Amino acid sequence: MSPRSPDPARQSSPWSADPVTAAADIVGRVVLVDPAAAAVLSDLDGTLATIVTDPAAARPLPGVPSVLGRLARAVGVVGVISGRPAAFLAEHLAGAGDRVQLVGSYGLERVAGGVVRLDPAFEHWAPRVAEVTARARSEAPADVLVEAKPATVVLHWRAAPDREAWCQAAAERWARQTGLELVPARMAIELRPPIPADKGTAAASLAAGCRTVVFAGDDSGDLAAFDALDALAATGVSSVKVVVGAAETPPALLARADLVVPEPAIWLQILEHLADALEQAGRATIS
Ligand SMILES: [Mg+2]
Repeated sequence: MSPRSPDPARQSSPWSADPVTAAADIVGRVVLVDPAAAAVLSDLDGTLATIVTDPAAARPLPGVPSVLGRLARAVGVVGVISGRPAAFLAEHLAGAGDRVQLVGSYGLERVAGGVVRLDPAFEHWAPRVAEVTARARSEAPADVLVEAKPATVVLHWRAAPDREAWCQAAAERWARQTGLELVPARMAIELRPPIPADKGTAAASLAAGCRTVVFAGDDSGDLAAFDALDALAATGVSSVKVVVGAAETPPALLARADLVVPEPAIWLQILEHLADALEQAGRATIS
């Protein structure tokens, strides 16, 4: 497959007949060319886990660890790239096995050999992240959820939509005062160090040397990974950009999709079809 811009024909919805199989074929056509040289990468929340009001309560859908493990036995690189702390990924995706690459905190953390490693550049920013976390905890209205992550802090207004303006204003003020960057998310805003690591650097790193790459996401933070796939496509790598859609899906993300699927459960089914196809093709080399 040659490098290309998004092709409207490939974006057309496959949901008319046997939709999961049709969508799985779009992904499989790329991955099955040379599975050992393929990267299958996915976001977690909203992509392989249903979005819930309390982010701490979100879990990968049942079946996710199993299918990631099956894919990792047949495909060159399988990875989950998330805004979640890497320790969360390691805990809840433990069943996937060591072959599945886990990148957390938007590329700032990685699990290697069972150990979480933070980007070395973070040390300089740690006091400022701690300062903003403390201020958010003391100043935020009670119905705003302040989520402290290993390297960032997030203000969530999903439980109190009328707090959006307060959260935006506070985050902008703290960002100006500390030099932290703002990352918009679904009914939330994150403050993070301006370290050049994001889902795009993570995707490019994991897919390095691969002939084909698939990435699925659902949110603005996933645009960087789509940028990375486009950059790889410009060098001849075949790519499929998957958007797991919902009413809140950012239009900018949808506009970049090669394939849109309606919900995490369907993306899981597509991955299961892909794992079945790889195993049926006798390409699962190690049990
Ligand atoms: Mg997500």
